[in-house]
Amino acid sequence: LKRNVFRTLKQVAGDLYSLLYPDLCASCNQPLFKGEKEVCSRCRAYLAYNRFHDDKENPVAQVFWGRIRIENATAFFTFRKGSRIQKILHKLKYQNQQSLGVELGRWFGAELSKTDFNAVDCIAPVPLHPRKLRKRGYNQAELIAKGLAETLEKPLLPHLLKRIIENPTQTHKNKFERWLNVDGIFDVNEIEKLSCKHVLIVDDVITTGSTLEACAHAILKVPGTKVSVAVLAMA
Ligand SMILES: [Zn+2]
Repeated sequence: LKRNVFRTLKQVAGDLYSLLYPDLCASCNQPLFKGEKEVCSRCRAYLAYNRFHDDKENPVAQVFWGRIRIENATAFFTFRKGSRIQKILHKLKYQNQQSLGVELGRWFGAELSKTDFNAVDCIAPVPLHPRKLRKRGYNQAELIAKGLAETLEKPLLPHLLKRIIENPTQTHKNKFERWLNVDGIFDVNEIEKLSCKHVLIVDDVITTGSTLEACAHAILKVPGTKVSVAVLAMA
């Protein structure tokens, strides 16, 4: 009985606390209800989802056409200025909302578990440059990858890719110069873990695709590997 009373009191205290200091939705800043995580149900219902994960010719896949071989590529959302997803990404990137990243990854993973993406062997985030990592304290791509790995039940290799030089600007370069530029930005650690593996590379946003291309390039140098790409949002 004593234990039950204690448990009830603890629960009441917890409910009171969340009544006074509720968790807020990362998109609309309204208090979350019990059972809601990071983003409220209403916002979840109105996000700009892409439903093209199994479409081999989707816009994310097309980014890599003629550049590098990617097995499957997709983005959970389409990014528009002023949209809910912009607010969410801002919180993830600049406001230290690390649990939001993992939750988004889990949610994305639940979608991908029903698709060809389930065939990957391991999951690796695009690394931040060490200087940026020190400044921010966390890599948002790694948080998303963590959630994805959890739901897809695949090993997470957070240090598989390493950035060897800071990403130089890709503008004002022709295709060949860009190609040269892409080689040697990233390298792979733990090469022995990678033999005959299909790696899912994860990032928060895709714009030109050059960072992801450079990562894929580093992995595909290892014979027998395959690469797929999953990003949270396509700009
Ligand atoms: Zn909301």
